[in-house]
Amino acid sequence: MSTVPLQIITPDRVLLEREVSMVTVKGGYGELGILPRHTPLATTVKPCLVKIKLENGEAKIPVTGGFLEVLPNAVTILADAAELPHEIDPDRAEASKQRALAKLASNLETEEERKHVEAALLRAELRLEALDWAQKHGNLLQTEN
Ligand code: ATP
Repeated sequence: MSTVPLQIITPDRVLLEREVSMVTVKGGYGELGILPRHTPLATTVKPCLVKIKLENGEAKIPVTGGFLEVLPNAVTILADAAELPHEIDPDRAEASKQRALAKLASNLETEEERKHVEAALLRAELRLEALDWAQKHGNLLQTEN
């Protein structure tokens, strides 16, 4: 199976370094499926679950935004924030979600404030979704870094 090295880097560490056969990301212009030997590109990454195909299955990683670079033999995601599934604190994500929902139900002062709260809600939902997916399908990244 042909693979490409993927790195996901956050501001404080290398979160993941793996050979993958495919990585799917929500890019600034839409969903991108990157296969080995993909045409080089650089684009922003929107908050999403990054899906990776490994030789023994799939994994999903919540990324809150960032930047993607595809080179002939390397794929790099510079993430604003990202966690491996087993690092996600479900209580924290649930509290963050409930806080955001409560704020959205109240009278928010400005459109900017609403966008800010909606972004926080999306981050929490992505984390909960990643955790849920790993609990149902298994977490292949348990031993990573
Ligand atoms: P919160 O409201 O709980 O702070 P947030 O969405 O505002 O969440 P971020 O700004 O996206 O948090 O991330 C800040 C740091 O906290 C990052 O290092 C991120 O990996 C970590 N982080 C955020 N939420 C969680 C979580 N539920 N479990 C583990 N780490 C988390």
